[in-house]
Amino acid sequence: MYITNFQHCLNADGNIPKDMPKEARELANFLALLIDDASTGDYEAEPTIRCIEDGCEGLVVAFVDIEAEDEIHWICPICKTGGVITNWRGTKWDNSGDGK
Ligand SMILES: [Zn+2]
Repeated sequence: MYITNFQHCLNADGNIPKDMPKEARELANFLALLIDDASTGDYEAEPTIRCIEDGCEGLVVAFVDIEAEDEIHWICPICKTGGVITNWRGTKWDNSGDGK
């Protein structure tokens, strides 16, 4: 289970730093995709984001929590890898329109 404060993945300009270690950067990019996807609020769309676990071909499902609206929950239906993202509102991947 990954619990990520997304602000910790960003530099002062709100970008994912290019000089981050590769693994951390891959995770940050993956989480950014999930935020971009979940914050649209369109849950009819087919999932398209590939799971980050090595060898897993699952497509990750991500959604904004109904009660805790500042949390995005995500899970891979195949390997059950999942997590929670907090502090994503107002980032450039936030499509909800609430953060800016
Ligand atoms: Zn998986």
